[in-house]
Amino acid sequence: MVKKIPKKKSVSDKDPFENVDASLGSGNLKNVPGIEFIVKVAEGIGGKPSRDVAEILLGRHNVNEFLIAKKLNLTINQIRNILYRLSDFGVVSFTRKKDKKKGWYTYFWTINILRSLEVAESKVLKSIQGLEKQKSSREKKRFYRCVPCQIEVSEENALLSNFSCTECGEVYTLSESNKILEEINNALKILNSELDKINNALTIERSKIDKRIVAKDKSDKRKKSEARRVKREANAAIKKAAKKVLERKTKSPSKTKKVVKKSPKKKSVPKKKVNKKISKTKKSKK
Ligand SMILES: [Zn+2]
Repeated sequence: MVKKIPKKKSVSDKDPFENVDASLGSGNLKNVPGIEFIVKVAEGIGGKPSRDVAEILLGRHNVNEFLIAKKLNLTINQIRNILYRLSDFGVVSFTRKKDKKKGWYTYFWTINILRSLEVAESKVLKSIQGLEKQKSSREKKRFYRCVPCQIEVSEENALLSNFSCTECGEVYTLSESNKILEEINNALKILNSELDKINNALTIERSKIDKRIVAKDKSDKRKKSEARRVKREANAAIKKAAKKVLERKTKSPSKTKKVVKKSPKKKSVPKKKVNKKISKTKKSKK
């Protein structure tokens, strides 16, 4: 019992950041799927500095924000602003640790690969949907344009202004929808191939997470069954001990009977004597 207390304490005092990559050496990028899309998502959120931060976080866990600032030659506030913006989208997450002496918190950042890929996927899907909409309306309707103004209008609006530009009066010409449709189709091809790659990366990342969960479940189950085994053995030991005591009692019934029978008689006897006799019988048992 006495030994257990310091053991427990040492567990809670364990530094959760002992695995922090303090040297900020090269991150392990081998196991990160869809890197190009992840950095693109980061860049879409906060421009080049966000991309730089994402590149540092890739393949690492719990990176000290001061190290990121140092590496990118930015102030800690600049780095925090970038990271907070990324965390608004769930692209990065943090754990924090309080400096007991100075009283402030240091944040340790990790990039969320799955979430980043999901953001990438939804962005590409949105672009695809927008282009599909344009495509179908262009296939169904006709559009007119004013060449000098570089403006395009729907056929309804062209009709309303008698097929002349409301800005400069130039006569509208029929838009070359075929050329535009070709451009849309090319863009869709690129986006769909990107979507395939993102989905592949998502599949890889999800299966990695599933494996981690399965491994954790397994180790949890192992721990539980181990705990159950220990409990079972402890119970068995207690039962065994109890059985032994019972066996001893039944083997020498005269002794126990004596104690029981004697006790009422001893009412008149001073307490001290009773104690002595009981302790004697106890000793004799052992
Ligand atoms: Zn015009």
